[in-house]
Amino acid sequence: MYNWKSLLVCTALIIAPTLHANPLSECYPDWQQKALSLGLSKDITESVIPGLEHLPRVLELDRRQPEFTVSFSSYFNTRVSEQRIVRGRALIEEHRLLLNSLTQEYGVPAQYLIAFWGLETNYGGYKGKMSTLNALATLACDPRRKDFFTIQLFDAFSLLEEHKLKPSAMVGSWAGAVGHTQFMPGNYRRFAIDGDGDGKIDLWNSIPDALTSAANFLKSLGWQTGERWGREVRLPENFPYLELVEQRKRSLHEWQKLGLTTAQGNKLPAEDMQATLVLPAGHTGPAFLVYRNFNVIMGWNRSEFYALSVGHLADRINGAGRLAVVPPEQPRLSIAQVQDLQEKLKVLELMDGEIDGIFGPATRQAIRAYQQQQGIIPDGFPHPSLFKALNISLDNGGELAQ
Ligand code: CA
Repeated sequence: MYNWKSLLVCTALIIAPTLHANPLSECYPDWQQKALSLGLSKDITESVIPGLEHLPRVLELDRRQPEFTVSFSSYFNTRVSEQRIVRGRALIEEHRLLLNSLTQEYGVPAQYLIAFWGLETNYGGYKGKMSTLNALATLACDPRRKDFFTIQLFDAFSLLEEHKLKPSAMVGSWAGAVGHTQFMPGNYRRFAIDGDGDGKIDLWNSIPDALTSAANFLKSLGWQTGERWGREVRLPENFPYLELVEQRKRSLHEWQKLGLTTAQGNKLPAEDMQATLVLPAGHTGPAFLVYRNFNVIMGWNRSEFYALSVGHLADRINGAGRLAVVPPEQPRLSIAQVQDLQEKLKVLELMDGEIDGIFGPATRQAIRAYQQQQGIIPDGFPHPSLFKALNISLDNGGELAQ
């Protein structure tokens, strides 16, 4: 019934759409040319690049729009858990010698290195299983963040060569971060260090390599030896929110004059340091004064919630107690609810910015103006009471975040 010719036709029909379905093939020639001009090996141009595969899941994750805001308590409580604190304390003992030598050489105390490790991968518990090369290739061939990911892809090629890695051994997050401390390939090349002295750098399997590299990276980001990240503080009853919520950087001396104390009610240290006030959950939540190392932590990950979590987890691992003020449970807000809020503030002629559903500076400013009008504490924070006062339902997306 079938002769060999019809079989060939059938095979061609099956194969042809598959070949066209690989969106990366159009990027291969550019990458191969770039690899040649950079002097990368034939193995990269002739074997690695043509073998790169498109991962639809990576683009799906890249396109994912957050539907809700994340409340501080929800973010913080999942990252600074009792279990993570207890495990962190055990790991600090287990790796005591290594950590002591890292503190001496790089100036970063042990508890911070352990805290980064805990937040990034739960101490190596989930390092990611996605092919790093395929993930980076998918993002580098996509217009959205092409330039950044092309650089990372080529750093990954160089890692393969410089460290004699196998492509299949390079696995990590969907966005290309790898190993115990989730380094991007560019940072791997620039800051990773052979901590155990076995002649190779392996951030996937060697804890000493990963922790030494983290210490080196933090030092390069400007870690200040001997300084804390910040601390929880207590604000006085009559704290002038209106003046200070957006101009948050002052010397410790000035903060002290304004009536701030430590969370326990003691005097702030007399050091001549600049400190920034952070109120991640508004005036009903904990208040923090943060120092230069807070910015260093944000150099690793640009999120205030992340930096507060690293700092507090480090303190807890080091033996400190809980926050004096428990982060209040606050509803998560949907984009539609924030838009609703913005529209109502606009009708009241308090809001100048766009109705974009994003909780940014213009919205905070408008909330402060509203709060001031109503004679309530003008912290610019979207408290549930604000939604109630403006008749915005917090149902649906507004349930308390877990
Ligand atoms: Ca090593």
